[in-house]
Amino acid sequence: MPYCSDCGEWCCYGEKIYFSTAERARLGFAEHKSRDDGSCQFLVNGLCSIYESRPLECRIFPFDFEEVDGQLDWIIWEQCPASPAVEVESSLDYLEREVIPKYGERYIWDYLEYSDALGPSKYDDMEFRIIRPVKIHNI
Ligand code: SF4
Repeated sequence: MPYCSDCGEWCCYGEKIYFSTAERARLGFAEHKSRDDGSCQFLVNGLCSIYESRPLECRIFPFDFEEVDGQLDWIIWEQCPASPAVEVESSLDYLEREVIPKYGERYIWDYLEYSDALGPSKYDDMEFRIIRPVKIHNI
């Protein structure tokens, strides 16, 4: 996407990415790491070197999940320069039907718990917009 090359892969910098135990075992590493410049360990020459195996967090960006009173909501990170161009409802429908069922609701809650446990992050100062509750299908 042109937005991605323009912004310098902002989403691949400065955050430890959630990989489940099964994903880490499959990819052969114990803990996700960021390099000294903040880049994800899998970012190589501006591209994801594990693209086909990238975790859910990376597949849904610039969308993300937010827990509000025990309910899972979709949000969109407005810092991402691609976010104004995203077709929100068709993208969320695709993610709910084709992507999330491959991971399961448990994976999402584990991801949110992991993110909370990381403490302060670059996202704390970022603008986001709550879209609507997540519809869980076929899990
Ligand atoms: S796993 Fe790939 S898409 Fe996800 S942050 Fe790392 S380089 Fe970026």
